[in-house]
Amino acid sequence: MAFAEPLPEPISASLRRPETGGTLTIDVAAIAANWRTLARRTRTAECAAVVKANAYGLGVEAVTSKLDGAGCKTFFVADLAEARRVRACARGAVIYVLGGFSPDIGPGYIDVGARPVINSTTELAEWDAFVAANNWRGGAAIHVDTGMNRLGIPYDRAVKDFETIAKLPGFTIEGVFTHFAMADEPRHSITQEQHDRFTACCDALQKAGHDIPMRHCANSAAIVSHPGTHEDLVRAGIMLYGYNPISGGQELSPVMSLKAGIVRCENIAKGSGVSYGHTWCAGQDSRIATISIGYADGLARQLSGRVQFLLHGKPVRQIGRICMDMCMLDITDFPEAQTGDAVTIIGQDGQARMDARDYAALLDTIPYEILCAVGKRVPRVYLQNGTVVKEACDIDFL
Ligand SMILES: *Cc1c(COP(=O)(O)O)cnc(C)c1O
Repeated sequence: MAFAEPLPEPISASLRRPETGGTLTIDVAAIAANWRTLARRTRTAECAAVVKANAYGLGVEAVTSKLDGAGCKTFFVADLAEARRVRACARGAVIYVLGGFSPDIGPGYIDVGARPVINSTTELAEWDAFVAANNWRGGAAIHVDTGMNRLGIPYDRAVKDFETIAKLPGFTIEGVFTHFAMADEPRHSITQEQHDRFTACCDALQKAGHDIPMRHCANSAAIVSHPGTHEDLVRAGIMLYGYNPISGGQELSPVMSLKAGIVRCENIAKGSGVSYGHTWCAGQDSRIATISIGYADGLARQLSGRVQFLLHGKPVRQIGRICMDMCMLDITDFPEAQTGDAVTIIGQDGQARMDARDYAALLDTIPYEILCAVGKRVPRVYLQNGTVVKEACDIDFL
């Protein structure tokens, strides 16, 4: 369910809405542009989209619809519930579920028309029994673990395990893939080693008489740092959303901005404390703004007093502890600031820009986690060439 009436104006209209805190604005045209950039770069390899975790927090419906329209044919999700949401927006797409297969959710695969990723020999046998019992022709992909040590059939057991596969009837292998552990460290030799192990496994499988229409390994980092691993398909995630995991690498089109409105401006006297614990005290008479975004919206409490946002195109210091729904700013140097003004947490404001990388660095994490952490209650507003095309709130999907 979208909000009853699409808003005629872009973001500023959303910021006026008193019942919401922050607003996450997503430029779907930029996501499509990033996909095209990658698809050009990978040439003959198909560029698939990884839209797990609600498309890294940005909203799986809007992202899938846009990429489906742009020509993306294959989508990867974490579980069947996500696959269902993708299917609703991309009727003809191929959808792979990375989390694997279990018989109790088998009928769901038929229902959605999704393909499981087979992560173990147990799953392989279960899937084989399931397709036979249901006369189901949908394929599956085999995941080989070449060194990530997370999921998949271990590469050094694979050849033996593949003998078991050879005995199984009626089973269509649509693809074999692996996942790199360190593709974001271009100079590390493990990626090449993983790719060698992968190639040996695929060759062994083919020798055993299995057709493998698709081989794939590359995530975003490998797309840029290891072009020799593109094979038949690449699985692009974070780069679609505007972040290059290789530092200093090619810039992509920025996709998202996160803003919150000022809900109160007040003067306080020198010596007054602000927020829980009074961890910040005014060293002079000061003016303080309260903005409607807090840790429940994804603004990590560990950032308290260590971060700056943008107001009127300039950096503004966040002060005191970040609360659940709000936090405070020192706006002493912004005499013209008033209630209703937009504060940029992520995105461009005039010449200045704040980026998920800035927060990731402070929190010792990666932009992925910053994106995924944006709170469920933060409305997602989708823009295309500066115009709102859709609004959604994750409450809609409950
Ligand atoms: C998440 C994921 C990807 C995408 O990774 P990015 O670094 O976001 O491009 C690709 N493959 C698998 C198996 C994944 O789990």
